[in-house]
Amino acid sequence: MASFLYPRVCFWLSSFKSLTFIVYSIMKNLILISFLIIPPMLGYPDLQQDFDDVISKKELLGQFDPSSHPDFEKIHSDYTNKPSIYLRKKAYSAFKDMFYDAKLCGIDLKIISATRNFNYQKGIWERKWKRTKYMGWQKADKALDILKYSSMPGTSRHHWGTDIDLNDLNNSYFETGEGQIIYQWLRLHAKDYGFEQVYTSKDQGRTGYQEEKWHWSYLPLSSIYLQEYNRLITSEDINNFNGSEVAGEIQAIEKYVNGIQKENP
Ligand SMILES: [Zn+2]
Repeated sequence: MASFLYPRVCFWLSSFKSLTFIVYSIMKNLILISFLIIPPMLGYPDLQQDFDDVISKKELLGQFDPSSHPDFEKIHSDYTNKPSIYLRKKAYSAFKDMFYDAKLCGIDLKIISATRNFNYQKGIWERKWKRTKYMGWQKADKALDILKYSSMPGTSRHHWGTDIDLNDLNNSYFETGEGQIIYQWLRLHAKDYGFEQVYTSKDQGRTGYQEEKWHWSYLPLSSIYLQEYNRLITSEDINNFNGSEVAGEIQAIEKYVNGIQKENP
């Protein structure tokens, strides 16, 4: 009986979500336009200046502790099996909406990684940097090899608190059985909640990381973080770890930070 109802509940839910999304988009644009028109009329301070204060270079580079940051919240054990992981509050709230709607369709989402700061990423990177297999390698080749699976400290989207890894860190999990059903649901519905797969197949010329079917980004926030990253950060800011000197040479910002799916096909 319950399983008979699922498709209808899902259909009703999708239609309702589409309608509310349209109303929400209109309202959001009206508010946005009013923000653009009213402040100059009233002589408010420069909004871009305020925005700079909100996203600092340190936050873009992951140089902070999410456990003591007021914009972050610890993820409850209902949604993860990790003891102490954090997300930005807006992204977390959107995830919870998605989680419960997915559950109505019999889909169980689990966050297996969320915010990872600079020091955490530095730990991963430097452990790999010291591997004996890299004896005699050029630094740039070594960095490119590590980048197949791990970000350079200071260049990870996980620094921003907007991106999550879901259910399993292997593409093969999402290609059969339960994992395939979860992936199909995410491909169809995650965008309704603001989440998109950014590391898609590289067949269309996307640069950087391999495809990651588990990595989902909350674009309403992360698109602003990427824009600010490109405005404020250069390869000289990628420093303070072994191998950071090749960040410019291997085009870590151009090919990896910006090596994302631009629009969902
Ligand atoms: Zn990830």
